[in-house]
Formats: sequence, C-alpha cells, structure tokens
Amino acid sequence: MSQPLFSPAADEIVRVALPVPVDELFDYAVPADRVAQAAPGCRVRVRFRGRELTGVIVARSGGARAHPGLRPIEKLLDTEPVLSSAMLSILREAANDVLCPLGIALRAALPSGSAPRSVHGYAITPRGTEALRAGVLGGTAQRLLEDLARRPRSAARSRRLAEDAAATLRDLERDGLLVRREIERGPAAREATERVAALAAGIDAEQAALTQLARSPRQAALLRRIAASPPTPVASLARDDPGVNAPLRALRKRGLVRVSQRPAPRDVLGPPVESEPTGGPGFALTPGQADALKAIADAVSAPRFEAFLLHGVTGSGKTEVYLRAVAEALRAGRQALILVPEITLTHQILARVRARFGDNLAVLHSGLRPGERLEQWQRLRRGATPIAVGARSALFAPLENLGVIAIDEEHDDAYKNDEGFRYHARDLAMRRAAQSRCPLILGSATPSLETRFAADRGRMRRLVLPHRVGERPLPAVELVDLTREHELAPRRRRLILSRALERAMGETLAEGGQTILLLNRRGFSTQILCFACGFAERCRNCDITLVYHAPEHHLRCHYCGYQIPPPSACSECGAPDTALLGMGTQRLEEAVRTRFPTARIARLDRDTAQRRGFTAGVLRDLHAQRLDVLIGTQLVAKGHDFPGVRLVGVVVADLGLHLPDFRAAERTFQLLTQVAGRAGRDRTPGRVIVQTFMPNHYCIRPVRTHDYESFYVEELGHRAALGYPPFGRIVQVIVASRDEEQARAAARALADALDAERGGVEVLGPAPAALAKLRGRHRFQLLLKGAEEAEVRRAAARLLEATTRLPDAVQTSVDANPVNML
Ligand code: ADP
Ligand code: ZN
Repeated sequence: MSQPLFSPAADEIVRVALPVPVDELFDYAVPADRVAQAAPGCRVRVRFRGRELTGVIVARSGGARAHPGLRPIEKLLDTEPVLSSAMLSILREAANDVLCPLGIALRAALPSGSAPRSVHGYAITPRGTEALRAGVLGGTAQRLLEDLARRPRSAARSRRLAEDAAATLRDLERDGLLVRREIERGPAAREATERVAALAAGIDAEQAALTQLARSPRQAALLRRIAASPPTPVASLARDDPGVNAPLRALRKRGLVRVSQRPAPRDVLGPPVESEPTGGPGFALTPGQADALKAIADAVSAPRFEAFLLHGVTGSGKTEVYLRAVAEALRAGRQALILVPEITLTHQILARVRARFGDNLAVLHSGLRPGERLEQWQRLRRGATPIAVGARSALFAPLENLGVIAIDEEHDDAYKNDEGFRYHARDLAMRRAAQSRCPLILGSATPSLETRFAADRGRMRRLVLPHRVGERPLPAVELVDLTREHELAPRRRRLILSRALERAMGETLAEGGQTILLLNRRGFSTQILCFACGFAERCRNCDITLVYHAPEHHLRCHYCGYQIPPPSACSECGAPDTALLGMGTQRLEEAVRTRFPTARIARLDRDTAQRRGFTAGVLRDLHAQRLDVLIGTQLVAKGHDFPGVRLVGVVVADLGLHLPDFRAAERTFQLLTQVAGRAGRDRTPGRVIVQTFMPNHYCIRPVRTHDYESFYVEELGHRAALGYPPFGRIVQVIVASRDEEQARAAARALADALDAERGGVEVLGPAPAALAKLRGRHRFQLLLKGAEEAEVRRAAARLLEATTRLPDAVQTSVDANPVNML
C-alpha cells in the first residue's frame, strides 16, 4: 500500500471533483497544517472504489473538522492551482449546461497526460519472498515471483511473462504469495528541460580568471564565456567544445559556477516564416474592416464583454480584422486567443500571425505530442507569451488577462467536442470572454444558424464585410441540372462529369489553372435516390431522409423509427430509375484520369487522410501549383487559400442533403458557399460549376449569388415549423449494448421513464441510431425535443437519473447540444 501522506486525525475537509460518471463531489480529509496548500484548482490523487484517481479540489470546508472515518487524500499534486478560480467557475457552469459531471469537464480542461497514472498490477508478499527463498517453487510461478521481487509490475507485464501466467497468478494470489494493487506510473507528458550554467553568486569572473585560474587557461576561458551570456545552456557549450565537461566540473567544484535546470520548450512552429509581403499592418483597411475594428477596439479599451458576428464573404479581410484586434489587445497590455477549426488550418493562420507579431506565441492543437502541449500550456501560465493560437481545447489555456478571443470559421462542426465533456467552443468562448470582460469575434462567410439568429435577437452585434478586398469579384457560380443532363445522356449511363464541367476543366487545364473537384460524401451511401429527379424518400414526421437498411430491405427514419419498404418507382416523379447511391472519390478519380490523362491529379478523402502527413503534403503541392486537379471530400472546402485555383466543380451538390440530420440543408449551403470561395482568390476571376439534381432547392439556388440571407430566412422558417434549434432544444441520447435486444429494451425503458410527466417535451424513438452498430455495440437513439429549454433540461436530468437503473452492460451517452447527429 502506498503510505497516505497525512494522518486522518484533526483533519479538514476538501471537496474533490473526480472523473467518474456521477455528478457529485467527494469529500476527503487534509490535515489542518496542509489545508493552506490544498487550494481549489489543485490536483490530488485519491482512492476511489478501489482505484487511485486524479481529481481537482473545488472547495475547502473552511475549518469544519473531518470525521475520523473520512479517507485522507493520497497526494497533493500541485503547490499552486492549475485551474484558476475564474476557470473553475466557468467550467462549473459549462458542465452544468451540457449535463456533464464536473470532474469529467475538469479533466478535459487540463493538459492531457500531465497527471500521474496508475495501472492494475501485482506485488510480492512477505510469504512470497519466503517461498522464493525456500526454493520450493518452480516454472512459471518461480519466474513471476522473481520478477515481482525486483519491483511491483503491471498486470499486463506479468501476464506477458509466460503463456500460462494468468492461471499461475490466480493460484499465487489465492495462496497469498502475491497481492493485487495499483502500480504508480509517472505522468505521460513531461516538460523538456535543459541544463544551464551561470556564475555563482558574488563571483567576479575576471578577477577569478586572473587569480585562482591563472594556471588553468581552459577553465578561465570557460568562465569568461559563461560570464558573457549567462545563463548558458550546457548543450551549447558542449557543441563548441566536446570536452567541456571536465573544466565545467572543476569550475563547479571551485564554487565559481552553478548548473541548474530550466524549462526548454520544444519548437512547435517549424521553419521561420517570411515577413509580410505587402506592407503588413501598413495598408489601409476597407471601410467595412475599419467599422468592424472600431467596434471591437472600443470593447477592448472599455474594457467590456461584447460578442460580434464578423460576417464577411470569403476573401473579405476577416483575418486582417482578427490580427488588428489582437494588436489592440496587446497594446492594452492584454492577451489574445485565436481559434481555428483544425490543424491543417492552423498552419495558414499561424504563418500570418507570426509574420505580424513574431514567434513569441503559444500553439495548442491535437497534432502536438502531450509533452509539447504541456510546455505550451506552461508558457502561457508563466505569462511568457501574450498570444495563443489553437483548436477548440485552447479555450482552456491559462490566459488570465484576455483582451480578445477570435473564432475563425465559427460555423465549423469541429468546434463541438463529441466525447466526454461535450462542450461547444462557441458557448465556452462566450463565457470566457464575459468573465475576462473582452470582445469575442465569431467570423464566417456562412455563420451557423444559431449565431446568425443570436444576432437577430440582439444577443450579439453583426459586423458585415460584403465585398472581397481589392474589388476582386466573387466567382461566378453556374448550376448544372443533372436531371436534364440525364435525359440527354445515353440510357442508364451514370453521369459523373457533365458536359459543362468537362469543358471547363479542359479550358482551365489549357490555361494552366488549377481545379478542385468536390465530392461531398460524408457518412455513407445508404440513400435511395431517383436518378431522374434526384428525389430521396423522407420521413413524414421528421422531414429527414430515410436510410436504406440492406439486411431487412427497408427504409427507416433514424429519429422516430418510421419505416417503409423501398418504393419500386420514385414517389415524387414516378420514374422507375431509382438506385442506391455509392459513387466514391476513387471512381471519380478514375473517370478524371481517363478523360485528362496528362493532368497531375491528387485525391484527398478519408482513406488518404489516414496516412500521416499526406494531407498536408497534398495541400502544399496544390499551393505551390504542382497539381492540376485536386479531388476531395469536405476537407478541400475549408478556408484554405490557394492562389492558382480557377475552377471549382461540385460533382453532386445534393448528396449531403440526404443525410439524416436536421442540419443537412445548412451544411450543404455552407459547404457549397465555402468551396465556391476557393476559386479565384488571386487576381484572375474564378469559376464554379455546381452539378445538382435540385437546382431550385432553397439551399442550392442562393449559392449562385452568394446569397446567405435568403438561405437563412428560408431555413429559419423550416426550423421554426419543426421546432428544431434555434427554436427549441434537442437532447440526443444514445443507448448501446452488445446485445441488440438489451439495448432496445433499455432505450424503451428510458423513454417510458419520461412518459408520466414529460410536460412540453416530445420524445422521439427509440430508433436505431444512424450508426446502428459501432465497435460491436448495437446503438439506439432517443431524441428529446421541446420549445422550452428549461423543460428539456429537466426531462434530460430525469432521464440521466433513470440510466443509473439500467444493467451495467448498457452504455448511455447524453448530448445536450448535438451537432453531429450521425
Ligand atoms: P478572409 O479571412 O475574409 O478570407 P483575408 O483577411 O484572408 O480574408 O483577406 C484576403 C486577402 O486580402 C489577404 O491576402 C489579405 O492579406 C488581403 N487584405 C486584407 N485586408 C486588406 C486591405 N485592407 N487592403 C489590402 N489587402 C487586404
Ligand atoms: Zn421520423
């Protein structure tokens, strides 16, 4: 047993949040003389139900005495809080908001891997030692105990030692020769450090060199060198003189030099960037940018919290506004945080931030190793850098003096965390900015409906940048009606490239321009689509697309469970020409290669993304114009800036519309508008060709004129009619088990638990989840839907309570603000 640090006598109580799926705090004892150090925000190791866990102290009892039965904490991990009290209170509210136990939210906020870990393992007992000494054992038992006699080992290691180890371990445990226990491991992440040499206190280097070291010229030279630039990294001394260790040791022995450790963060920025080509901060802002900046700068200098929607078409200069806002914050002596949706986009914005502000900034994203993340986090905590750039989790960064937060491409789904603490970066940023009394900028060409609606309701101010910078026109968008193409094409030939798109690609190639082809194929090809009119069957209740299930051969609604046999003819136009959609990027690539055999072609999709560095390499090639055609999924649509792209082709614009998700239309409009924005970022005007079965759909038609507002008004009407957000709240509950019947029954039981008094809350399902089977588990979905937020939350809380009565083999997860509904 590891020794408890404190005796339980005369203790005080601390309340600890633990990463366990119960929304409670747990009391532990701390001796009165240590209470001052055990401050809220410090991490502790504690015993909990036979395990050792890392938790966070959230409160002290303030003098109340612990009763003798109360467990003491095992270890206090921090001498200073790792979460400030401001951060603790933000996280408490945010966790409550998404129905997440506080301990799980706090774990998500701390740099991963920085806490010690423990694993299940074995240790030898005195009886075991005796048996070993007596030499009465043999074979596997002997080997196992000999190994444990050296030190306690993890269960996994012990089991690996021999084929029959599992059985032998059981026998040895039964006979009392070994015990099971937790084995402590060091943290997975550590800050890198370096050794540095400096003069000892009160030493005059010149005098010492002339007197004490008069007959040791090497030591004298080294002492002068160290005195010239203290503290000097030992590694750099060794680089200049591989034999430096001996004179250095001598200088230390004489008490002239001190060697110590200091943090040495690894470089996460990569090669230096060029400074800005065109005058940088010198150029004049457009009138729209100037107005936007003025509003934001006012909030910085007030200082006050205000949320802004920076609504500007692609290339309108939004990033420039963020950069100037950052400069305002720095001028006011405060810090700045810029969020981007994902790593591949980090590089682009990082280059601009570095060109403007230099390399003294912190970067936080999932591409960093745990140790690197920890170092970046510590640099911010020490106040070593005023700027942080990162993905959504950078919101937890220890920035205690924020002057501005900017969220680029705020509509991106990557801002929602889909596991554990299911927060949305937008909501959390709102809380952080409010707490820091600073402005929050949400930038996008295609704002999420929620954000745009919040601006309508006066909860944030909308700043509009209607034009591209420098009179560059927005690209011309042409819609190609696939239904008509189909009528004209040879019978039953499944069209991939229309004549118009093929012609435009040929012309672009001939002119030396680049083409991006988008095949929007998120999720899976399980919709039945009419090839004559593009219609896909939809649910009568929920207005989402029905999904085809092969084994049962029927179409089913993933929200409410409604199902029908697949129609033999299209129920919209009567054509018999319906088929399962299944075209992939690979087939598209083959078709393009056949048609343009000399073109340099690359493909980015989920398969190629598995290969490390592949995506970044392809994007680099595209940027450097080493590629003629890039074929890809959603990935290619995001805010990248490619000067040579003249043509963007969308192969089937309506594909994403058929996903069983109430945000399908919004996502389709956003994707098409964003990808269209990739064309013609340079001087040459761009061209966009969108192939679609539904040129008149309200989310496709307005793409032609980059008309966000008309899409918004129409979509808002649909949301209102069906009670979907932003007009109501939806809570998604997934119930999973290896046993399909058990999962179904559990989901049913949860739905029934709400039946009695559900008030204004509608319960949809149980229905098979969109991913009906995942990692061997059958999954069912319940949706709670209601106009009153408070009522939906009450129902969700009641449902959460009911989950505690389900069998252990059933897993449930609750998302109080689902974004990715698949
Ligand atoms: P967005 O973020 O809206 O896509 P950017 O900020 O990237 O737009 O601006 C597009 C391009 O125009 C960039 O190359 C940027 O340097 C340049 N730019 C931005 N604002 C101005 C301005 N006021 N004058 C000249 N060039 C500008
Ligand atoms: Zn339905």
